Amino acid sequence: MAEQIIIALSKGRIYKDTLPLLAAAGIEPLEDPSKCRKLIIATNHKHVRLLIVRATDAPTYVSHGAADIGVAGKDVLMESATDNLYELLDLQIAKCKLMIAGTKVPKPAGHQLKVATKYIKSAREYYASRGQQVDLIKLYGSMEIAPLIGLADKIVDLVDTGNTLKANGLVAEEHIADISSRLIVNEHAYKTKFSQINEIVEKFKTAIYK
Ligand code: AMP
Repeated sequence: MAEQIIIALSKGRIYKDTLPLLAAAGIEPLEDPSKCRKLIIATNHKHVRLLIVRATDAPTYVSHGAADIGVAGKDVLMESATDNLYELLDLQIAKCKLMIAGTKVPKPAGHQLKVATKYIKSAREYYASRGQQVDLIKLYGSMEIAPLIGLADKIVDLVDTGNTLKANGLVAEEHIADISSRLIVNEHAYKTKFSQINEIVEKFKTAIYK
């Protein structure tokens, strides 16, 4: 008998870009989460359901086994404790770059940089790898404001077209990582529901590398 498969993913860009991959695996949601308020979406397979979660929560659902599979940005995975899960596939969707940006105003020698970001762990690791001591300031959004009003010298944020930086008079200075969404799988589910999960993984792979 087929086991229940629960797939956690977030609304918006990740959902939209994952739909063609789900279709390639023969999975069609029965409702559109952008048009209804349901957070558990049935599919054409009675054993497969989608959980609509916050992007930052997808690894938590998968890590705890509340979802078997999930889609999460590499930026989110780099920030979260990714216990009990495998990152199986680069889905090549929602691509962007994690970058340091600033105002280009030079800082006096010996000035300890203040860096505002939502990505504290990634920023800490990056600066540590370069032996640079900085003060990190946690923000949850609108980070571009921080250098403009003197809260920080620089920000670490996702950059796609660069338009947001440009509109706020900031320039991208250093590249930290290439980001894209990844297929994550709960370790235990991967063992106990291997054939069903593997079938989805293989169909995703075919669709990505066609
Ligand atoms: P852009 O103006 O195209 O460079 O986009 C930058 C803004 O969009 C920033 O606020 C980012 O946090 C956000 N952003 C860009 N790409 C992504 C992505 N793949 N996932 C999540 N947020 C993104």
